[in-house]
Amino acid sequence: MKVAVPKEIKNHEYRVALTPTGARELTGRGHQVSVQAGAGEGAGFTDADFQAAGAQIEADVDTLWRNAELILKVKEPQPDEVARLNPQHTLFTYLHLAAEEPLTRGLMESGATCIAYETITDARGGLPLLAPMSTVAGRMAVQAGAHSLEKAQGGAGVLLPGVPGVAPGKVTVIGGGVVGENAARMALGLGAEVTILDKSLARLEVLDDRYQGRIKTVYSTADALETAARESDMIIGAVLVPGAAAPKLITRRMLADMQPGSVLVDVAIDQGGCFETSKPTTHAAPTYIVDGVVHYCVANMPGAVARTSTQGLTNATLPFVLALADKGWQQALRDDPHFLPGLNVHAGQVTYLAVAEAFGLES
Ligand code: NAD
Repeated sequence: MKVAVPKEIKNHEYRVALTPTGARELTGRGHQVSVQAGAGEGAGFTDADFQAAGAQIEADVDTLWRNAELILKVKEPQPDEVARLNPQHTLFTYLHLAAEEPLTRGLMESGATCIAYETITDARGGLPLLAPMSTVAGRMAVQAGAHSLEKAQGGAGVLLPGVPGVAPGKVTVIGGGVVGENAARMALGLGAEVTILDKSLARLEVLDDRYQGRIKTVYSTADALETAARESDMIIGAVLVPGAAAPKLITRRMLADMQPGSVLVDVAIDQGGCFETSKPTTHAAPTYIVDGVVHYCVANMPGAVARTSTQGLTNATLPFVLALADKGWQQALRDDPHFLPGLNVHAGQVTYLAVAEAFGLES
């Protein structure tokens, strides 16, 4: 199979869809891998690293796309990339089509077979190609929040672990899923006092069992949220209601009850945010202050740690990439019922129900 790895062109996207380690797995099985010149630079992989793994470096982007059968990307195709797609292509990438009608229609018109990372499932009902980025974002949330608590950033000047004789900072995580658990683990590791709020008792049971009282678990109610606002130095928003915008759990009015200089980290900002005063920010200007409370609301947190994110992502995608390259998309999807829901668009049709419903395309 001829596999192509373009350089990502979305603004501030530094990840690449394949590491040299992944390229070596493909070339070792006899596949031809072409990597666009400089594609790995943002993640710290040089062209020479890819060449050493048996890949060819292609400087001409037109040639790269024209010769490809399987195209591996990170972000949804940008308009220039959609224009390059044709029916011989299988595209494997994050697509997030349900909120993107023009992109969906562009992919339909291209005739390409488009498989999305985010709709592939696993045997435990999880989303295995979303989980690595949620893990990154959860772990980064505490790092970003701890920095924001520093005085120079507008924070209260609180050191999360405290020092001997001084109590540690209090961190509340709202939503105890993949992001939330990873954030809580980081905060615990730093020595903070950690509480997780969740609406799912089953999830709280798992967390309680796993952390044996080292993390407090509290059922998420209006009372619990008000207490969290009053008492926390940092609140991390990590809720997800599948298929819906995030609920606004900390309201503007509640900011008045928070300590001046306390910090809100809204990881759920990519779903609209779970704090009323959240608005998306960038890595260049990640925080702003409302009513004395520092807000960190970066929508693509994993982009800041592109090397780790690239490695984590390709570890998760590689088995699927190998199946696509070895068997072709039809057989690969037929053989794996968890891979099948990844198919979003094929031969001009939307093949994923939620996306079709979003745009009235179901038939
Ligand atoms: P998840 O499904 O693993 O966990 C979400 C948790 O939220 C679940 O345990 C659920 O029970 C809980 N929840 C739902 N409603 C709640 C409520 N009202 N109160 C308390 N808990 C509630 O999801 P995840 O993978 O952890 O993702 C969490 C969020 O982080 C999502 O919005 C995701 O899009 C976002 N995310 C953002 C970035 C970024 O860069 N900003 C990166 C990755 C993920």
